[in-house]
Amino acid sequence: MNQQEILNRTSIINVKNKLGLKEIYSKKDIIYVKCPFCSEKGTMRLNISNNSYICKKCEARGYSIGLYAKNKYISNREAYQRLINNEADISNNLMTSIITNVRKNKEELDIAYQAFLEKLSLSSEHTMKLLKCGFSMEQIEKIGFKTIPTQENQKIEICRKLQTEGIDFNGTPGFFKDKKFRWNFKSHKGIFIPVLDNCKIVALRIHLDTMYSIDTSDIWFSSSQENEGTKADNNIMILFPEDNKIQLMNNLKEKRDIIVASEMVLAYKIANTYKENIVIRSS
Ligand SMILES: [Zn+2]
Repeated sequence: MNQQEILNRTSIINVKNKLGLKEIYSKKDIIYVKCPFCSEKGTMRLNISNNSYICKKCEARGYSIGLYAKNKYISNREAYQRLINNEADISNNLMTSIITNVRKNKEELDIAYQAFLEKLSLSSEHTMKLLKCGFSMEQIEKIGFKTIPTQENQKIEICRKLQTEGIDFNGTPGFFKDKKFRWNFKSHKGIFIPVLDNCKIVALRIHLDTMYSIDTSDIWFSSSQENEGTKADNNIMILFPEDNKIQLMNNLKEKRDIIVASEMVLAYKIANTYKENIVIRSS
C-alpha cells in the first residue's frame, strides 16, 4: 500500500464517511459535522490538516483513529486495523479556492529544506527547553532542531540568499510569495523539527511555543492558504529508531504495538528511550 493510501484510510474524512457523520458546513481545512457523542446536538469540528476532532459542547476530542474507535467501542489498535484494511472513502464537500503549487518530489524537498535549515540556528531558550525535555546536546544537534525566525526582514533575506544559491521554492510547503512577489515563509514562534523519509527531509513539523488550540502544540510547515504556496502532506510518522530520527514508513511491521503520538518532540523522545520496541504514528 502506498503512503497516500495509508493517509487516505486513516484520514478524518474517511472516518467521517465510515461513521456516516453528517456534514453541516465546511471551510478551508475544517468540516463541521453533527457530534456523534452529544445528546444536545453539539457540532463537532473536524480538522483535515491534522486529522483532529473536537466538540466544545461535550468536550470530546482527539484524532481520527480514536474517533472511529470510540464510536465502535473498540481499541485504537483495532480501529487502526479496520481502517487500514478497508478502502477509503474521502468524498466531501470541501471547497478549495486558492490555487497552490504542485509539491516538489522528495529529493527536491530535501535539497530545499536542508539548505533552509542550514541558514537557521537554535536559540538558547529553545536549547534549554529541549534539554529540559531530556535531550542531550548531541541529540539536539543530530536531530537538527531549529528556532523559527519570525522577523519579516530576516525571513525575506534568508529566502533571497537561498535563491542566489540556486534554491527554488516552487512547490515547497511553508514557502509562498508575498504582495511584492518576494519569496517568504510562514512563521510561528516555535521550533522546526525535520521529518525524514529514507534519510531525506520531506517535511518540517513545527513545535509551537504556545499551544495553537487546546490539544495542538504541533503543526505542519505549510502554506496552502498563500499565494504560490504549497500544502504539506499530513504525513504519517511511524517511529523507526535508527539514529534517533523520525522516519516515514509505508509498511507497518504488524507485530509491533501502535502508539499514536501527536507531538514530534515527544515522538523523538520516545524513540530514544524505547528504541526497537515501538512504532509511533503521528497524525
Ligand atoms: Zn459533542
